[in-house]
Amino acid sequence: MSGNTNGNDNPDHGHEGHRHALRPSVWGPALLKDPQFNKGTAFSLRERQALGIHGLLPPVVSTPEIQEQRQLRNLRGQPTNLDRYVHLMDLQERNEKLFYRVLCNNMEETMPIVYTPTVGLACQKYGFIYRRPRGLFITIHDIGHVAEIIAAWPEQDVKAVVVTDGERILGLGDLGCAGMGIPVGKLALYTAIAGVKPQQCLPVMLDVGTDNQTMLDDPLYLGLRQRRDRTDKYDALVDEFMKAVVERYGQNCLIQFEDFGNRNAFRLLEKYRNKYCTFNDDIQGTASVAVAGILTSLRITGKKLSDNKFLFQGAGEAALGIAGLLVSAMEQEGLPEAEAKKRIWLVDSKGLIVKDRASGGITEHKAHFANEHEHIPDLAQAVKTLKPTALIGAAAIGGVFTEEILRDMASFNDKPIIFALSNPTSKAECTAEEAYKATDGKAVFASGSPFDPYTTPEGKTLVPGQGNNAYVFPGVALGVTLFGVRHISDDIFLEAAKALADLVTEEHLAEGRVYPPLQQVREVSVKLAIHTGEYAYEKNIASLYPKPSNMEEFMRSNMYDYNYESFEPEFYDWPSQ
Ligand code: NAD
Repeated sequence: MSGNTNGNDNPDHGHEGHRHALRPSVWGPALLKDPQFNKGTAFSLRERQALGIHGLLPPVVSTPEIQEQRQLRNLRGQPTNLDRYVHLMDLQERNEKLFYRVLCNNMEETMPIVYTPTVGLACQKYGFIYRRPRGLFITIHDIGHVAEIIAAWPEQDVKAVVVTDGERILGLGDLGCAGMGIPVGKLALYTAIAGVKPQQCLPVMLDVGTDNQTMLDDPLYLGLRQRRDRTDKYDALVDEFMKAVVERYGQNCLIQFEDFGNRNAFRLLEKYRNKYCTFNDDIQGTASVAVAGILTSLRITGKKLSDNKFLFQGAGEAALGIAGLLVSAMEQEGLPEAEAKKRIWLVDSKGLIVKDRASGGITEHKAHFANEHEHIPDLAQAVKTLKPTALIGAAAIGGVFTEEILRDMASFNDKPIIFALSNPTSKAECTAEEAYKATDGKAVFASGSPFDPYTTPEGKTLVPGQGNNAYVFPGVALGVTLFGVRHISDDIFLEAAKALADLVTEEHLAEGRVYPPLQQVREVSVKLAIHTGEYAYEKNIASLYPKPSNMEEFMRSNMYDYNYESFEPEFYDWPSQ
């Protein structure tokens, strides 16, 4: 891959101002309906005249800043977050650059709308709020024709695909085709956070049916009205899809798996990780973000990683992914794998995962972490018995970190690590306030969905960390696509975790933060992408050569810019219309 998205083969040459900017591919009234080129009231008089739209807009020429203000006022005036979601999606359909300007400049406000937690509700209401299709819909009945469907996608240069089958949408379960909001939202973050160009992003829904009866009974449901296909056809469809993507978009096209149920997620990751440029964000991306938060927590607790005992509520994609990466991180600290695994404990719906159960039909992935211990039926008992230093929730059971559990954690730890990672907010194991209150402000807390800061009775304000996957997947994806990394190993995610943890300053720590403020997520992504690139060159797994002499400059020159291009005639050799 050239890796250079502006068509320039020399990696050291980036943009050269606006002179080589894209010319709008449409003209006249159609231009105002094309989100890629539409600027709305920001078209200058010269542009309006040259492009055949003079008189089709109110006379004022707005600055992008005024347009942003107008959008923000509208957004804030909406009655609910779901309305805000619909408002932002409408803007994305009308004026792409303005959409990304609003997102990028107001990250902390807009990210919870286009992504978790609001996107969860948007998926549940997908059939109701639906206005226009976005992305590709491939069904189980399309077997044998997947390449034709992919050929119908209008973009020539896709570099990142996010695909789901809708079986495990956030902690909301099987939403079938309505899960399409997730790939759409994730790819909006690819652009907003990592500057991957919107036209290079492709959201895909593999609709194999749903087992969600509410969806099947809903007359507004937009997917296949059948139960999930769990036959061999499922694998045949995924296989065909993977091949068709590579056939059209090349071996370096990144395919991110998102919100697959865990019976398929682990299996497909193993099957494809060394054959395609792919990763599973729920397993690997989550692991990276959570491990980054834990590495940062160590600077607050003053412990080494291997001085900890981790207890997970849940043993699914998130928990097992985090547990696996923690073991790798402890091995890097010098601990043998077997010793590292003794510091990891998991509770699932049947209680503590122990050796005895390993012979009783638990999955191989869970059995990997089964330690020698007597059976403990529930979390509260496991906490009392094991006395962990860190409690990590990822089972989508809201409120399961009870006051008693939190108090217990504070009774045997000076600074207990409490991560309530389940999404959306209703599924969080506890709120930030509950964690801080029950531990007298001692908890080092992070969550999956955002929570407000909390002020202790002594007047100290603590800022909860949001272990948002958006800290990692966009930056890693940018590094991978730009530097042509073929396969994405777990090491890349561990490197990203360490790089993310290093970006947390002493000032952040003093506020109790274990991640940089979300507003800085774009800068974080650039740093992570460079780090990923440097690691790839060091390990000889990059395929962009020669290595750019200035990685940062190269990276920035290839990132999407939400500032409008000038379409004024002096920048172009305009053909006579
Ligand atoms: P999953 O379906 O793979 O795993 C859920 C696990 O919970 C399963 O192992 C199941 O056995 C276990 N479980 C179910 N009931 C239980 C009970 N009563 N007690 C203990 N365990 C029980 O799902 P996942 O991908 O691991 O996601 C789990 C949650 O984590 C979701 O809410 C998801 O949104 C959240 N998550 C958060 C982040 C983040 O914060 N960055 C990232 C990924 C996932």
